[in-house]
Amino acid sequence: MSNYIVLVKQVPDVSQITDNAFDPDTGTLVRSRLASVINELDAQALAFANKMKRDSGDKAGRIIALSMGPPMAEEVLRYSLSRCADIVILLTDRALGGADTVATANPLAFTIRKIVREILKNDNNYYVITGMQSVDGDTAQVPAQIAEELNLPCIAYVTDAEFKSNRFEFTRIISGGSQTVAAKKLPAVITVAKYEYPLFATFSRTRWANKTKVISWAASDINATHIGVTGSKTSVIRVFPPGKSTRKCQQISDADSLVKVLVESFRSGNGQTGKNGQAQTPRYVLPNKRASLFYRSFEGTKKEQEDYEILTEKLKELGITKTDQIDDAVREKILAAAGENFHKKALEDMIEGFKLTKSSFEGEVWVVAEHSDSVVHPATFELIGKARELADSLETKVGVAVAGYNIESMAEDLIAAGADNIYVIEDKLLRVFDPAAHRRAIADAISTYWPQIVLYAATPQGRMLAPMVSYRVSCGLTADCTGLDIKDSSRKGDIGLLLQTRPALGGNVMATIRTKNSRSQMATARPGVMKRIPADLSRKGKIIRYKVRLSEDDISLEIIKTELGRGEVNFNAACVVSGGKGMQSRDNYEHLMGLLCDALNKKLDTQVERGASRAAVEQGFIERVHQVGQTGTSIGPKLYIALGISGAIQHMIGVANTETIVAINSDPNAPIFKQCDYYIVGTVEDTIPKLVQALEVK
Ligand SMILES: Cc1cc2nc3c(=O)[nH]c(=O)nc-3n(C[C@H](O)[C@H](O)[C@H](O)COP(=O)(O)OP(=O)(O)OC[C@H]3O[C@@H](n4cnc5c(N)ncnc54)[C@H](O)[C@@H]3O)c2cc1C
Repeated sequence: MSNYIVLVKQVPDVSQITDNAFDPDTGTLVRSRLASVINELDAQALAFANKMKRDSGDKAGRIIALSMGPPMAEEVLRYSLSRCADIVILLTDRALGGADTVATANPLAFTIRKIVREILKNDNNYYVITGMQSVDGDTAQVPAQIAEELNLPCIAYVTDAEFKSNRFEFTRIISGGSQTVAAKKLPAVITVAKYEYPLFATFSRTRWANKTKVISWAASDINATHIGVTGSKTSVIRVFPPGKSTRKCQQISDADSLVKVLVESFRSGNGQTGKNGQAQTPRYVLPNKRASLFYRSFEGTKKEQEDYEILTEKLKELGITKTDQIDDAVREKILAAAGENFHKKALEDMIEGFKLTKSSFEGEVWVVAEHSDSVVHPATFELIGKARELADSLETKVGVAVAGYNIESMAEDLIAAGADNIYVIEDKLLRVFDPAAHRRAIADAISTYWPQIVLYAATPQGRMLAPMVSYRVSCGLTADCTGLDIKDSSRKGDIGLLLQTRPALGGNVMATIRTKNSRSQMATARPGVMKRIPADLSRKGKIIRYKVRLSEDDISLEIIKTELGRGEVNFNAACVVSGGKGMQSRDNYEHLMGLLCDALNKKLDTQVERGASRAAVEQGFIERVHQVGQTGTSIGPKLYIALGISGAIQHMIGVANTETIVAINSDPNAPIFKQCDYYIVGTVEDTIPKLVQALEVK
């Protein structure tokens, strides 16, 4: 008999954002002004647990829903009871507030231990089931960190489960395809990426749900080791609105006009530069390499920057060149000039800050390489490019940790891409990616060499490995970064910090985060955002072989089947046309694609390649090798045409470097319309023949 502990979270409803939800002064989204709902993927996880219980034919298994949050989070537990939960538990305590993922995973893991002890009577035959991520955090870190704390196998990004020979086999999303796996032992943590069979509440079940007791536990009931702000290993230092899209987002009313702009932008290349609209900032230099020790223009926040400007200006005026010249009289003059900006204590801290010249963290800047079949994932090369920039600023080396079997041959390419030291961790047991074994290998190497920064690609693999490793080595981690910069917080005594910027709340705000209480600063970074530097085959680097002791017990998953896209696709073509689920059928896809690609090929005199969304591949419209996106291929053609594609983040990440994006979609509110240059609202069946006709006009 299996039991199911389902984690459900109450989140702000980011699908219904009204204008008054934004702070008029800062332009940022105010979370408390949004309605609260159950996190959609957790609702799917609940339905998934119900399916597992049903498919196993085991009526005695219990579904226990667990939520951590304020008292009002009881609502999502009542929702769970009214669908399928048998028991619900709310972990609620002010002391738990303000937590990052470590200080969320830790108390949840301790609560699961208490559930197992007191409710399941130490029966270890259970699954922890949860949505892949929550819409407010979007990190996907908590489930992996719970698995790490409880030392359980973790199967992430699951889309299906099949009960076979008395156990479950899970289908999950991996880079380049999908995989079927089973946990080698129970309990296990499962994260659900997609399960579109919602549960509905019946009248009688809703009545029962309203009468049923919600078990409420406080922090003192679970004795967790990391809670709230103090137990967190990251802190948010700035929240700001996302920059306006640099896409044109222009609606076109008819096929003739679309063909006109499409041909023009293809020929003139006047679309995006494909660089994500990121502003170039001056490269960081350590204080002892600056023209003056008083030069503090790399402070992490605007306030710190402005305060130092006032201070250095006044010091210049007073002819002060050394900190020991700052006596009481000088202090008085500075405070008078500062007015309301800062007071005595802040001034003392800022003066102390001038004495700091060395980076607060020590060690190399590392990238954890991702690879499959001896091929390095493109995102690894992008990260090495970023690591090179960070390491040059910090005057240290770039290290790449690569774990696997027969992998040394990759070292040459990694060095050419900008690495200095390649830490090769070879073992037969690392031949294929197993989260637990690879986490052990990488975490051991990190705690031997202690790099100051560790970067991972925000791919399904990196987003699984990084939280486990960071939790194991007690370091903070920021997910899905789109910006990584070195800055100081001189008055707080910190020099050379890695500031990590990422989208949050479904991309509606940006947050800059720093690591605290950690020996190393860790981040996953979105593929396609950081820039790869051109390979330099003359670069020299060192191979350092690191031995890790592994046994069969370190392998947590049995891999039953892996399906990867194979075949020849030329995604370097200047024009790529992709079809999504909106193409309706394989026949439609082939027919309409054939017509449009031929017409474009003739009109633009260029090769036109076919692409697809993941959903279209899963519908069988075309082979997986054509998939574009986070777990497909990232492309950067001159012209990208998306047909019947909604514009999910995982798809759009893969086309961020495209010059011109055109979309055709029947839904006037399709999210892709806010991320493209030109669009037509219409069905593909109706619009494509008209487009073809317009393209055929000489
Ligand atoms: C870890 C992970 C990795 C992923 N990686 C990828 C990835 O690499 N690539 C990827 O694409 N996705 C990926 N996904 C899936 C992604 O989240 C979306 O589910 C997927 O991109 C949706 O594909 P779609 O737009 O074709 O389908 P849908 O979201 O179902 O959208 C179909 C669209 O077609 C429109 N439509 C319907 N009928 C018509 C018609 N007759 N004419 C015109 N328009 C019509 C609809 O309005 C809708 O907008 C990943 C998800 C996860 C969790």
